[in-house]
Amino acid sequence: MKVLIVYAHPEPRSLNGALREIAVKELMAQGHEVQVSDLYADGWKSQVDRADFPSLARDERLITVAASKKAFEAGTLTSDVKAEIEKLLWADALILQFPLWWFTMPAILKGWVDRVFAYGFAYGVGEHSDRRWGDRYGEGTLAGKRAMLIVTAGGWEEHYAARGVNGPIDDLLFPINHGILYYPGYDVLPPFVVYRADGFDESRLGPVAEHLRKRMRTLFTTRPIPYRQQNAGDYLIPSMQLRPGLGDPGATGFGLHVDNEGGVNER
Ligand code: FAD
Repeated sequence: MKVLIVYAHPEPRSLNGALREIAVKELMAQGHEVQVSDLYADGWKSQVDRADFPSLARDERLITVAASKKAFEAGTLTSDVKAEIEKLLWADALILQFPLWWFTMPAILKGWVDRVFAYGFAYGVGEHSDRRWGDRYGEGTLAGKRAMLIVTAGGWEEHYAARGVNGPIDDLLFPINHGILYYPGYDVLPPFVVYRADGFDESRLGPVAEHLRKRMRTLFTTRPIPYRQQNAGDYLIPSMQLRPGLGDPGATGFGLHVDNEGGVNER
């Protein structure tokens, strides 16, 4: 199988650098083909601006969504973005690897998403009707492929537990897992998270490396997070509200969109 790792750390000799090497080595040992997009090393441009749309007339107002749609359809996105889109289409699995910075991904990786996940490719796909609300949340261009996060965090695992002060890690990563990866169709796997990363040392490398190797060996067999599919009956269209009766009564928040009960989806 083919695996793309999008790696966002400025220092190759970092803990993240070591984890990346371990992951790549194990994936290759399993016979997979691996490509790495090393965003800092490649000098990735992280902000969306006019330069992303070379065919936009000089005096034309930039409406980013419209410009993205037009450029994707016309094939006039910039060559760096087109190359990443090709890699995403090539890969059976996508891994985003990054240190948790201010409770989310570093800006350079967010900028990769902003620029590469173009209209018509990652969003704005499919029909909107009384039956469907576009091809998204489990459907879309990248459906049938898998994605997962490799994340390092300074905080303790307990700090990210259900009652931890930082908020549960699944909630913090929900906008990435559900909003960025599941949205264009990926089956999203539980993340691989290394906690207390700043105090990491040789004594922890062995077990962490073995766990990571195991996750790489099971990349194509691990059960994805059972997010609810948008168009499969769990949501009312067009309000896109979860149907009454699904989820715990009175519950709110991200957890509602994980189908731990079977929902009305047939999966
Ligand atoms: P490094 O700094 O490279 O290394 C960490 C430790 O691991 C060092 O002690 C190093 O010696 C050791 N190490 C490195 N390589 C190896 C190896 N091969 N074998 C054994 N030991 C090794 N944390 C949070 O929890 N929440 C946040 O919101 C958050 N926000 C942050 C915002 C910013 C701007 C920054 C800079 C940090 C933030 N942090 C936060 C902490 C951050 O998540 C950690 O600094 C990061 O995850 C550590 O990963 P690294 O790859 O940068 O580690």
